[in-house]
Amino acid sequence: MNQTRAPIADDFTVGRPVVFRNATVLTIDPAIGMLTNGDVLVTDKRIAAVGHNLTVPDGTVEIDASDGILMPGMIDTHRHMWQTALRGFGADWTLTNYFMYYYINWGKMFRPEDIHAGNLLSAIEAVDAGVTTSVDWSHGLQTTQHAEAAVDALEEIPGRFVLAYGNLLGAPWEWSRTPEFADFIKRRIDGRGDMLRMQLAFDVTGDPAFPERGAFEAAREFGLPVTTHAGVWGATNDNGIRLMSENGFLNPSTICVHAATLSDDSYQRIAASGAYTSISSESEASAGQGYSPTWHLRQFGIPVSLSMDTSVWWSADLFSAMRATLNADRARAHLEAHKTGDTVVNNFLRAEQVVNWATIGGAKALGMDSLVGSITPGKQADLVLIKNDASPAMFPLINPYGHVVFQAGRGDVHSVMVDGRVLKYDHRLRDISLARAKHAVARTVEYAYSQMGERAWQEVMNPEQTKVELLDNPYTYTNTKNTD
Ligand SMILES: [Zn+2]
Repeated sequence: MNQTRAPIADDFTVGRPVVFRNATVLTIDPAIGMLTNGDVLVTDKRIAAVGHNLTVPDGTVEIDASDGILMPGMIDTHRHMWQTALRGFGADWTLTNYFMYYYINWGKMFRPEDIHAGNLLSAIEAVDAGVTTSVDWSHGLQTTQHAEAAVDALEEIPGRFVLAYGNLLGAPWEWSRTPEFADFIKRRIDGRGDMLRMQLAFDVTGDPAFPERGAFEAAREFGLPVTTHAGVWGATNDNGIRLMSENGFLNPSTICVHAATLSDDSYQRIAASGAYTSISSESEASAGQGYSPTWHLRQFGIPVSLSMDTSVWWSADLFSAMRATLNADRARAHLEAHKTGDTVVNNFLRAEQVVNWATIGGAKALGMDSLVGSITPGKQADLVLIKNDASPAMFPLINPYGHVVFQAGRGDVHSVMVDGRVLKYDHRLRDISLARAKHAVARTVEYAYSQMGERAWQEVMNPEQTKVELLDNPYTYTNTKNTD
């Protein structure tokens, strides 16, 4: 008999098959497409079957997904997870304010336990929001003790992570060459499989001497992909792309983060190399790296993945990334048309495309698309069920891709599965201690405040506001006169 039953408390033991029933399934697999009233069966950590009224093994636990959207777990390819410890602190920052805080004045105060605290809360936040794979762009690793703390946190939360190892206070060609660094990789990363991978994270300044060569060579020796903030106004530019390209270090495993304010020559080099981009539209809009570039990248055929960058400003949910990217792309397309007196009648960028970028786009950027990124039988089961029967915004479900992008939000994430394991069900995290993470972060906030003092704390959080010069308005005079 193929009996299933609704889950009760301890039913989600690892290894028990799970079936999602009656969902709108966005498989993101072009061979399968979208299913309405579809089922997805998970056995042995993998997607076993996708279809209608699936026959399932005895003892399978059933998740009622009716009125919900089941999609692959979302993938964030660039997050400075350690900065979640100061969530929201920089809401009114520009990139200059950010650089002054972390790079110039205060970055060095963060201790291993602060990295741990930020990563722990960030990892929980990601899983809770249906982000099943996160790249921890961890550039606060001043010592390998900091790196140990970062990985400790990532291993405490059963999401999928990629440690992008970096150190904003050190020279990458130096720290990537130390024996401690090699030892760290051997002890903490090698043999960890697909739940914890690693990249090398550093920026290329454009210095013609190309000192970063040593770091690229280290990445090659360790077999690590490189992720780099490329095309950031005032920081990294075309010279960096050209040096990477001319020296053979731009390749399909490279991720160019932001990729804004670059010349067409740079975009052509990126396109020809097969490198990926990681676009953080919410970040680009308020920090000022340059305009979110997807509207331009398509002319070069450059592949896109999405990211949220840092919770010192923004959230860790890819709903925001998808929405911001679609908005930025369409806004720019309209503005470009208006410049020549034209009107965009039909949008180019579709909701379905940004859902693709948030899932399989990220998987491809990380070289993990044979494992995750779509609901394809045989792939690892990283799944998100978006369902919220109490929300007026979750009904009716007419256009599922559009619904994910413009209607749904992190509060609608009902269930999250990573590697076949249910980490969230019925809007509640399972076997994950948020209280412990909150406690750790509270101590970091207290410590940071005590180091900075009340005055610096307030000044950094509330940077001086740019003044606006009010234009003379002839109508004001007229109106004033009329009301006399
Ligand atoms: Zn960044």
